[in-house]
Parts: sequence; C-alpha cells; structure tokens
Amino acid sequence: MSMLKSPDQIMMMREAGRVVANALSAVREQAEVGVSLKELDDIAASVISDFGAKPAFKDYHPRWAAVPFPGVICTSVNDAVVHGIPNGYVLEDGDLLSVDCGAFVEGWCGDAAISFVVGIGSPEDKELVEATEAALARGIDAARTGNKMGDLAYAIGGEAKRAGYGLLADHGGHGIGRTMHAEPPVPNLGRPGRGMKLEEGLVIAIEPMLILGGKDDYYHDEDEWTLRSANGRRAAHSEHTVAITADGPIVLTLP
Ligand code: MG
Ligand code: MG
Repeated sequence: MSMLKSPDQIMMMREAGRVVANALSAVREQAEVGVSLKELDDIAASVISDFGAKPAFKDYHPRWAAVPFPGVICTSVNDAVVHGIPNGYVLEDGDLLSVDCGAFVEGWCGDAAISFVVGIGSPEDKELVEATEAALARGIDAARTGNKMGDLAYAIGGEAKRAGYGLLADHGGHGIGRTMHAEPPVPNLGRPGRGMKLEEGLVIAIEPMLILGGKDDYYHDEDEWTLRSANGRRAAHSEHTVAITADGPIVLTLP
C-alpha cells in the first residue's frame, strides 16, 4: 500500500484523530492528585467507546514486546519516558505525567500524546514540558513539501539537543494510516537536506521525547513495557498525527 493518502483518506484519519484528542482532554481534566493511572485508563476507554472507535494500544503486541500491552493509554510517570502501563499507581503532587493514546475509526488510526505536571510541580519540569511541546511545534511546521525528512528531524530535535536535553535513543515518530506504526520512520534528530522528500499525502506521527540531563539512554522496567531514563531524570513526550498537504501541515489529532 502506498504511504501517501488521498484527501478523503486524510479526512477519515481526522475522525480517528478527533477521538484521540477528546480522550486525551478527558484524561487531562481528571488527572489530579489521588487519581490512579488505571482510573485514567478507564476514562480514555469510555471516551473511545462513546465515539464507537477502537483503542489502538489495547492488546497491541509487536514482535519486540514480551507481552501484549494491557492498557488503552500509556501513562508514563516521572523517569518513565514512554510505554508506561496504566496500573494502580496513585498520582502525587508534582508528578510529571505523559499520556499517549491511539484509536481506530473505520480502520484508520490516530496517535497523540501529552505531558503535564500534576499539582504544583517544579519550574524545571514545566520547562521540560514546554521544550517538548516546542519541539513538536517546530516539527509540525517543518512537515511541508519541499522539505526532506532530515529537515523535519532536525527541526524536531535540534534545538532541544542544543538546549541540553536528552532525546530518547532508538525512538521517534512514524508513518501512520491503516496501521499505527508504518513506514517511514520519523527520527527526532537528523541532518538538514538529507533523507526522503516529504510528499503531499504523507501522514506521520511526530513525537519528541525529551529527558532532563542531556543523556539519551534508557532501560526496560521489569513490567516489560515501560522505558525509563537511564539517568533516573524526568522525561516528557508530546505527539500529534500530522498530514502533509498542498496547503501545508494539518494536525489531525485536535478535538
Ligand atoms: Mg503515541
Ligand atoms: Mg506514535
């Protein structure tokens, strides 16, 4: 199947993106001190079900994973960078929570993530979240015909790296469509002018994952899914599904 989508197909992906955005908004509204990750998972599940959509993460079992993913969302707290399991952990004041969500509508997938501080939080964590969101915004702005993948990758991660943040090793964004993870890979760091041409109809998930302290390394938690920063520092993750069109980038994962 071609990587490129027609305008009609992009419209259908927009519906999946809308569901994901609504689920993330609901989770964010309810993510307070004293609420468990499992409760947040239930909230996302009910929003996705209310839309008649299908969760993309639940029971997802890629070859590299030891067990199928047990949740509807990924909930990654503090030093967890991505793929955190929504378990019975109860949120505490100052936790940095990243929530990743995917859903299918009529066989088309949307994928997005947000990070935020629960309660008061530290200025350092808030700046980390802002830097991650800024990296995503720069990436979206570079998702244009006339650019190459290296331009996009450099736009996502270049400034974060210069500012002294780590970028999670071996992980980045991806093509998306009938499956959640499709070609091409969308790296979070690259060299301008290199790589494939960005073409009209390409739909990609752009997802910077920043770590405090400048190191990129991680390890797998014993739950087999959660990736934690090797230096134990906090991490943030922001993601949107974005269509490259003749009129510029269109973010599909908005409410
Ligand atoms: Mg995601
Ligand atoms: Mg993704």
